[in-house]
Amino acid sequence: MKALVFSEDADIASQMVTYFSKVMPVDSATTSAKYSGLADFGAGTIYHLKGDAQSDSISLKLQEIFNGGYDYLFVSSTILGREVAGNVSERLGKEIVPEINSFELKNGKAVTKRFFLGGKTVLDEESDAGVFTVTPGISEPQKTAGKSAITEVELPQSALKTISTEEKSTTGVNLEKAKVIVCVGRGLGKKEGIASVEPLIKAVGGELAGSRPVCLDYQWLTEDRQVGISGKKVKPNLYIALGVSGQIQHIAGMRGSRTVIAINKDKSAPIFEEADYGLVGDLYQIIPKLVKALSS
Ligand SMILES: Cc1cc2nc3c(=O)[nH]c(=O)nc-3n(C[C@H](O)[C@H](O)[C@H](O)COP(=O)(O)OP(=O)(O)OC[C@H]3O[C@@H](n4cnc5c(N)ncnc54)[C@H](O)[C@@H]3O)c2cc1C
Repeated sequence: MKALVFSEDADIASQMVTYFSKVMPVDSATTSAKYSGLADFGAGTIYHLKGDAQSDSISLKLQEIFNGGYDYLFVSSTILGREVAGNVSERLGKEIVPEINSFELKNGKAVTKRFFLGGKTVLDEESDAGVFTVTPGISEPQKTAGKSAITEVELPQSALKTISTEEKSTTGVNLEKAKVIVCVGRGLGKKEGIASVEPLIKAVGGELAGSRPVCLDYQWLTEDRQVGISGKKVKPNLYIALGVSGQIQHIAGMRGSRTVIAINKDKSAPIFEEADYGLVGDLYQIIPKLVKALSS
């Protein structure tokens, strides 16, 4: 058995190479300019796909590479990756399993796990699928001895034509890599409330994140800071949730956190079921006390 891994993001590709090379030999393809850094994680070959990197041209090339002798294709579950995975699965005539966060081979079958019903339950599946999208953060990248060979591959011309582009407002934050996250929910009440949270963020050396209402509905924060099933999936060592109720769509994005502290004025808020430490009360009264305790 042999696998091909694709991500346009070299960091995510290195996580996937580390994970899947423990199950079977792996080669990796990427369009990332940081492709040479991917050669340290145990893949046999790195295919650097260069040229017109759009979902159709990447899919065509991945189909060609895959047919050169691979059994499984693992694609990062990013916006581009999801499009590519669907396209290649159709071209190869292979079943696809989306959003896996675990993979094993048992008696020639692929055994995978993924969240289901908005993260309320975990689906354990056994299938003959050949294509999988993989949730970012499946493992910590681990360098191995030796280097992968690098093969330059020219992508075919894409049939897609970009008519115009519009910059999305982002802050460049990388929540997936953050070790400490302070997440604010609707309980913050107003955008100006963020100023009251900043001393806590500074005290714990964290990154600021938000629930969907905060990022999408009220736009107090940019979309790249949204945690949840339709936002970022994060795995920090410490996750502090302030005025977040803990609906399942939010939990699906932060369930991998090591330690969770929740502050909410409603003691029956579901976030407390996920929390290791819970503080019932008004976040505006609790934060200054926490900051004081931390600084002493
Ligand atoms: C398809 C779909 C996808 C979704 N994707 C996401 C997603 O990716 N991420 C996400 O977050 N949500 C997502 N949602 C929305 C989700 O269902 C919830 O509506 C959302 O998470 C609620 O956000 P919240 O906890 O900030 O707000 P609320 O549910 O309104 O909770 C606010 C909390 O703040 C507390 N509070 C109020 N004032 C204070 C105070 N002064 N001090 C302390 N506590 C206070 C309240 O007790 C309450 O528990 C999705 C929904 C759907 C249908």
